[in-house]
Amino acid sequence: MAKTWSLVLHGGAGPLRDLDHARSERHMAGLLREGEARLARGEAALDVVHAMITALEDCGFHIAGRGSSANAIGQWELDAAIMDGRSRNAGAVAALRGYKSPVTAARLVMEKTPHVLIVGKGAAMIAREHKLERVHSPKKYYTPVITRPVKKGELAHGTVGAVALDTNGRLAAATSTGGLLGKTPGRVGDTPVIGAGLWADERVAVCCTGQGEYFLRTNAAADVSSRMRYGRQSLKTAAHGALEDLNLLGGDGGMIAIDVLGHVEIPFNAETMKRGVVTSGGRFEVATKP
Ligand code: ASP
Repeated sequence: MAKTWSLVLHGGAGPLRDLDHARSERHMAGLLREGEARLARGEAALDVVHAMITALEDCGFHIAGRGSSANAIGQWELDAAIMDGRSRNAGAVAALRGYKSPVTAARLVMEKTPHVLIVGKGAAMIAREHKLERVHSPKKYYTPVITRPVKKGELAHGTVGAVALDTNGRLAAATSTGGLLGKTPGRVGDTPVIGAGLWADERVAVCCTGQGEYFLRTNAAADVSSRMRYGRQSLKTAAHGALEDLNLLGGDGGMIAIDVLGHVEIPFNAETMKRGVVTSGGRFEVATKP
């Protein structure tokens, strides 16, 4: 019998933008096929989510990596994180400048330092020490997906996320973001904050997307696990409950989640959420609209 594995990706949630979603959906479908092959041949969930996020950072279709927008003073400050469910090892960088793959810097923090979260110059130092690929001319390299909010008064934002369950029952989560458009220098959202923007343990892996301040205030990703652990809730009840809690504060967005049995949930209350799923049970989907 084939062993169970699952993979879910997202490219952010928010109002519908006048963009060519067909291209980003095709790209996501290709990535899911790659992830499927890797998980089916027994690769670790941690390596698969890392590879998926690196590709999403590089593609320029989402507000992460190449597709990110500058902050209020024209600098690109990016955030990312990665977490391994079984060991609960985690690494994150925030306000990183000058490197192409923030998630790779986050993995270095996890594996090469005794720390979990390193910001700004310290994060760049780790990236430099390990010879990560640099961005030499930000204005040429970055091709922002959007340069202004779709709706008046909106705080436009975007993120990419990946959660996976591998054939050894290990869960992992990874995220990367350019954060809010035109953000205040030094602003950090939920994306690199373990527990808020992502979480992985022995029962569930979760990544969130939406205006980060709400996810920070509800510790949204870890809340899904707590609801399952202490409240004996199913993945579905827990994920929808955590999002509902956030909604009560006025926040919107979404999350992707996989439990250790391979169940998948993608609750969102934003107008759209770019998302893709592939499972060993034969499910394959890519969508942007509800
Ligand atoms: N959560 C991200 C942030 O606030 C943005 C997003 O997910 O759209 O930085």
